[in-house]
Amino acid sequence: MSRTRILIIEDEQDVIDLLMLQLRKAGGFNVSTAADGASGLRKAREELPALIILDLMLPKMPGLEICKVLKMDSATRHIPIIMLTAKAEEIDRIVGLEFGADDYVTKPFSPRELILRVNAILRRGKGETLEEKMSIGAITLDPARHHVSVGAKAVRLTSVEFKLLSMLMKRKGRVQARDRLLNEVWGYESLIDTRTVDTHVRRLRKKLGKASAAIETVRGFGYRLRES
Ligand code: CA
Repeated sequence: MSRTRILIIEDEQDVIDLLMLQLRKAGGFNVSTAADGASGLRKAREELPALIILDLMLPKMPGLEICKVLKMDSATRHIPIIMLTAKAEEIDRIVGLEFGADDYVTKPFSPRELILRVNAILRRGKGETLEEKMSIGAITLDPARHHVSVGAKAVRLTSVEFKLLSMLMKRKGRVQARDRLLNEVWGYESLIDTRTVDTHVRRLRKKLGKASAAIETVRGFGYRLRES
């Protein structure tokens, strides 16, 4: 299993230690750190991590500025950013979200809570908003708008159903094993039974109506989306 690279940009060593400890406990992460804004920005560009934990108050370059620069650059825009802010920085916090940060945590924070947020964001999938619209038969999926339609009719899917359909469409014509779908839709740490996949596919099919005929069951293995 490949490790998920996380970059922590933070000048307070005790906060870094706390985060490192918690991420190590959670497992599966490859963590690098930067103690000031300028080197943080450089590392973000070089390493292209799966996620950045970014402190607001930093020497050399403030966190908001880094966030803005990364979110304006097409090479780094897709990288989710969690901002760390002190409680008094209410306004900056909001601005942080306006600058495109994906989430924020106020200091002092519970490391466990932060890891939960990290996992939630990583599960949401990387760079979905940059992906092109996909169509198969009457089904159209627009990742940027998080929108699915069958013909002219909009279909309301849960985020899990959306992700499932998106995986199947991206890999149309190829069989997707249940455990692989589970891994990618629910996250690698998930201990959910593979039958959960069947339940969600069943719900997805129901919502898609006739168009769901494109989703084939490959018995004892998984699912496949027919190409035509
Ligand atoms: Ca700081």
